[in-house]
This record gives sequence, C-alpha cells and structure tokens, in this order.
Amino acid sequence: MLGLPEGNLLIDTAPDLRTQLLRERIGVIHAVLYTHEHADHLFGLDDLRIFAHYLGEDLPVYCDARVEARIRRAFDYAFDPVVRKIPAGGVPRLVFRRIETQPFEVLGAEATPVRLRHGRFQVLGFRLGRLAYCTDTNGIPPQSMKLLQGLDVLVLDALRRRPHATHFSLDEAVAVARQLAARRTLFTHICHDLDHRATNAALPPGMELAYDGLRIPLCS
Ligand SMILES: [Zn+2]
Ligand SMILES: [Zn+2]
Repeated sequence: MLGLPEGNLLIDTAPDLRTQLLRERIGVIHAVLYTHEHADHLFGLDDLRIFAHYLGEDLPVYCDARVEARIRRAFDYAFDPVVRKIPAGGVPRLVFRRIETQPFEVLGAEATPVRLRHGRFQVLGFRLGRLAYCTDTNGIPPQSMKLLQGLDVLVLDALRRRPHATHFSLDEAVAVARQLAARRTLFTHICHDLDHRATNAALPPGMELAYDGLRIPLCS
C-alpha cells in the first residue's frame, strides 16, 4: 500500500487482505490498483466492501480490461443492479478506472504503468516518482527497462533459487537489479525456499528481501 498525497492506494487485493490490513492498522483504502488478475492478487476483493461505506462513494479501481473482466465474472454479485439498490447490500461497491500503458493520475500522484512479461501472461508494474513496484515477472522488455531508470526504490519479483516458468529466480532478479541500479532493491513474492537471514547476508549491497510489515519512506 502506498500513502499518497490524497489517500491510501492499495496495489492488488491478496486473499489474506483483511488480516494484512488489521495487522498493519490500515483503517481506510481510497483507491485500488491491479497488476494482474491472478487469484493470489485478486481474491481478497470482497474485503474492500467496507471502504465505499467509509468513503461515501464507490471505491475507484484502476485496472486494465482483462482484470476488469475477471472481476466482473468472479465477483458478479457486486455488479447485480438489484443488489446494488439495497442500502445494506453488503457488497463491494466499485467504480472502474481503465488504465493501459499511459501515465495516469491517482490520489494526487502520477503513476506510470510498466509492461512486464509473466510467463505467457502480460502484467503491469508501476512507477510512482522514484519508486517502482514490479511483481510477478520473469522478463522486463527493453521499453520497460527505460521506464525504470533512476529509481530510489525498486520492488522486484524474486521467487526462489530454482528457475520458474513465470517468476524471476533470485539470480535472475539480482542480474536485473544490477542493470537497473536502484539505490535500494527489495525482492518480493518470495517462496519458502529462501531462508531470510542467510539469503540477505549473501545479496549484493543495496539489495535485500522484503518482508511482511516492511515500511519505507516514499520521498527522502
Ligand atoms: Zn501472477
Ligand atoms: Zn503472484
């Protein structure tokens, strides 16, 4: 989640979203942004239903056409016109904001989508200022590498040591991080194979494994 000038922007809705928000004491989300439609990034969506209630209006959801189509199918009850008319309907109330690859405004900040390859899937990473969030990828096209220059913080997919069909291995992620040379690189989407302390100790300077609850300043 990014604390932006006009509110809290949540990236993806993981299945354990509710426990994550409670654990981090995040009381409100003002907008949601999706990288892609895979279940591990989407299926906490129902936990968003309280936020439209808090905001007094539908919760803005920024995503591409494929993510929107999956949400409309998987959470069809949220778009049932009869249910939406019931005041105490208890369904997520969302308003879609279509994004593609052009930069867009969200909560007082500019976000630039960064096209990433994720095996046979296409997903989006995002750059906001000098931070970029690039999860679920095993290939960054040259055009996207250009968008990721001059970063203070790069968050990058690094699943495990063994190669994987849709995620960077740790060695692949380190090689990409070296090319991009952000001041600080945080690896994410880590599986159980990587021992946290031993892996961190062996990483090059400026690179580390991220962890649940990690907080970083957005401008420094
Ligand atoms: Zn994925
Ligand atoms: Zn994933």
